[in-house]
Amino acid sequence: MSEAFHRLDLARAVSDIRRFSYVCKVVSILVEEKVRNLSATARKSLLSIITAIVIRASEEDLDVSTTRRLLNAFNDGLEGHLYGSPQLTVKHQMRVGSLLDAVSSVHPQPLDEIDNNGITFLDLPRELISLVMNRLSDSDSLIQVSKSHIIFGNLINSEMTTWKKLVLFHFSLPQIEMARKKKDSMSWRETFFYLRKMHGLREVYADVIHICCHCKALFWSTIGHPCIRPSSPSVRVTPRQFVDMLLFL
Ligand SMILES: [Zn+2]
Repeated sequence: MSEAFHRLDLARAVSDIRRFSYVCKVVSILVEEKVRNLSATARKSLLSIITAIVIRASEEDLDVSTTRRLLNAFNDGLEGHLYGSPQLTVKHQMRVGSLLDAVSSVHPQPLDEIDNNGITFLDLPRELISLVMNRLSDSDSLIQVSKSHIIFGNLINSEMTTWKKLVLFHFSLPQIEMARKKKDSMSWRETFFYLRKMHGLREVYADVIHICCHCKALFWSTIGHPCIRPSSPSVRVTPRQFVDMLLFL
């Protein structure tokens, strides 16, 4: 597993916006479900990726809540019986504690501290802000953005197109029709949460890991790999499939 992390350079992939979501999902599955299945060495490798995520969150003020969630889940996973010496587990717990402190010290810059002469996101025309909101592909981001400022909140809650577009993005038309037939007055927001509970969300990543059908190498789709049979077909590997592969390595 450590070798796979190293070869795919997952720690550096964290700072690539195309790969962050994929790596984050892999880390999320590992910390929430698999910490007790990991060897001490694999836990150490996982911790190095989480450290890279914390550094990104601290330096760039990005995905702070996701980072905190990953750290807390990893911390919870370190309780109970684990592979490796108890001293190493204590060392990992202390490391997670200091990373949590680092993330807790990150505070978003409030609007009143921003240079009044500068242009902010809020200075954009309402139509443009709305277009950006419509590009958000998950409900958590939408809800967090709506809480971050009254203007965003009003925009998201007043314009049902945002929730409608999210529904159309994640679910098929037959699924949507079936849900809305059940209850005529269901809003698009309610439809989204109903369908998410029923079918889960579509997983979309800008870059994904593939496995080569010829040499079985794992590689990032945007980078490719030096294959002994160039142009061999490859298959997309979902984060969960990747985790399952890692546990067999
Ligand atoms: Zn190959």
